[in-house]
Amino acid sequence: MDGKCLIFLGPPGTGKGTQAARMKVARGLVPLSSGDALRHEIKCDSPVGRQAEAYVAQGKLVPDEVITGVMLSAIETHLQDSEAGIILDGFPRTVPQAEALEAGLAPGRQVSAVLDFVLDDAEIVARIVSRRVCSNCGRTYNVRFFPPKRDGICDVCGGEVEQRVDDREDVIRTRLETYRSETAPLVAYYRSRGLLHEIAAGESAAAVEAEVRRVIESLG
Ligand code: AMP
Repeated sequence: MDGKCLIFLGPPGTGKGTQAARMKVARGLVPLSSGDALRHEIKCDSPVGRQAEAYVAQGKLVPDEVITGVMLSAIETHLQDSEAGIILDGFPRTVPQAEALEAGLAPGRQVSAVLDFVLDDAEIVARIVSRRVCSNCGRTYNVRFFPPKRDGICDVCGGEVEQRVDDREDVIRTRLETYRSETAPLVAYYRSRGLLHEIAAGESAAAVEAEVRRVIESLG
């Protein structure tokens, strides 16, 4: 199997999850979101979930070894199962995580490309405060641009549509600061390896999708 291992990098609220879902439909790539994985562990009240809960609620990064353990096993399983490959959404988020990923991939495998979603902070905050998520299936809505048809009810599964605890404005500010101090160094890290592709994330979802597809198709 030589499925691709793609990384979607960029601050929260830049549309990485939306585009990863579109690439699943368009290219059969499997999205693996570290945030979704942690929210699942928290919901199940697992040992990892209990370790992660306070960090997630405050918009801080969970310790590298916790998230690396969760993600590396998922990555290897899905890379073996998916012919097209995987998209990592939200992982790695620190240089030590990127190093752990490099070291943890099976021999002969490597990161294929990193797509860096670029958007200014004011637009990010505006997008995130109006974001809502189905607590059951994870479908994302936006009360300004894309509300559910019935208020608070998921169009897809009928689940409850709610605001994430970390999507409140004060927590978003912390998440953005965390991004700038801990995750932004990955831009230089991957650029120096010739893997970085910038995506202008302020365009319409369709225009961003076209750009994401263009980059992925250019990888062969
Ligand atoms: P996200 O859904 O990607 O915005 O992630 C939500 C929260 O999960 C983040 O604010 C962090 O608290 C935690 N998280 C997700 N991915 C990571 C990661 N790679 N490293 C550390 N913490 C993470």
